[in-house]
Amino acid sequence: MRMTIERTLSIIKPDATRRNITGAINHRLERGGLRIIAQKRIQLSQGQAERFYEVHAGRPFYRDLVAFMSSGPILVQVLEGENAVVLNREIMGATDPVNAAPGTIRKDFAESIEANSVHGSDSPENAEEEIAFFFSTIEICP
Ligand code: ATP
Ligand code: MG
Repeated sequence: MRMTIERTLSIIKPDATRRNITGAINHRLERGGLRIIAQKRIQLSQGQAERFYEVHAGRPFYRDLVAFMSSGPILVQVLEGENAVVLNREIMGATDPVNAAPGTIRKDFAESIEANSVHGSDSPENAEEEIAFFFSTIEICP
């Protein structure tokens, strides 16, 4: 079977930068087999957060989510590894920390279903789009 080296877009969310636990989260990602091949700390404007989460426009939590994601600094990252998309979502755990498996980032660090510490792309196609949203090719260093 061929190995599939993939890339995925990761975000360490404002609840985690506020608590100064980005290093602990990066350790989980690296320990889990992912390589951080690009990373920067930024703060999203409301408009940028609206655009990033456009797929959720109309969902009842959209307004709150946009406000939360633009409320403080975030770390945006490109992760690379074997089956990186699915692997990262395993390391992250379920959206709601109450349902997240033991040992996952969200189980151990998330504050709530909204302030759940990390984002990860949900498919290779979306990963490509989300990476291009934040990074130019010159910023990615595998
Ligand atoms: P992400 O896209 O951030 O990796 P996810 O794919 O697990 O998370 P989505 O369904 O894409 O979950 O929701 C995007 C984000 O919106 C969640 O990570 C969470 O911050 C927020 N969210 C999702 N569902 C709810 C909800 N019911 N109430 C409040 N916030 C929610
Ligand atoms: Mg999602």
